[in-house]
Amino acid sequence: MNKHELQDALASLPLGGLRYFASVGSTNDEALAWAAEGAKDLSLVVADEQTAGRGRSGRKWFTPPAASLTFSLILRPTAAERTHPTRTTGLGALALADPLRTRGLAAQIKWPNDVLINGKKAAGILVESVWTGGTLDASILGMGVNALAASVPPADQILFPATSIESEFGASVDRAELFRDILASLIGWRSRLDTHEFMQAWEDALAFRGERVQAWAGNDLPLIGTLLGLEPDGSLRLRDEHGNPVTVQFGEIHLRQAV
Ligand code: ATP
Repeated sequence: MNKHELQDALASLPLGGLRYFASVGSTNDEALAWAAEGAKDLSLVVADEQTAGRGRSGRKWFTPPAASLTFSLILRPTAAERTHPTRTTGLGALALADPLRTRGLAAQIKWPNDVLINGKKAAGILVESVWTGGTLDASILGMGVNALAASVPPADQILFPATSIESEFGASVDRAELFRDILASLIGWRSRLDTHEFMQAWEDALAFRGERVQAWAGNDLPLIGTLLGLEPDGSLRLRDEHGNPVTVQFGEIHLRQAV
């Protein structure tokens, strides 16, 4: 997908600007720099390849050329986004769920920031916020979507099974069309960020709902419980082994099914 194909595919969307890179370090880094230069709302950075793509805590996100959809969208916060800044990660996940559904695939959101198809990681979301004093100035919504089979990392580079949309769909995927559909869905969900419908859709798409899971941060001991749903701020609601309600704060948490 070159710049012209991309521009054609996205022509109907109300983007604030577009910067395309055949190859770049990290689209989130480019977007952060652009936001600091005054980029408008819905300015989009797209790369065909990332040489230093980032997951959380500086972990690597694999983005080989001509296979992924990798982009970072600059959001100048709406009132709803200022009130609910942690919902932006859910926004990214829901934006992908709709176009997957129209292609016959069910997205499961592995809280907080991954999208699974058939139990395997097909996309990751990295939201980074820019604050001026105590005011949210911009959110960078970064997404890496494994569109084609070649975007899936080699097995020795991952800790969780991975897949691509192409592999699960069982046929080739038009990346430009998929991209347009993701962004259109994102813009639609964004206008409903502060609604019950948004939270319901996010919760309904959660992976492992009703199942025993373990959640942990860093080197902490895992918390084990049954996954119930989400709090309004996107924190995870569990019931622990004694039947007590527990909330796992939205953040840098790992989640797995409990064995
Ligand atoms: P988890 O939330 O699954 O415990 P994590 O916090 O390590 O994982 P993220 O920061 O969300 O995950 O993503 C980075 C990790 O995802 C990498 O460390 C690697 O294991 C895996 N990964 C990297 N690139 C891809 C990709 N294109 N598709 C699937 N998985 C990937």
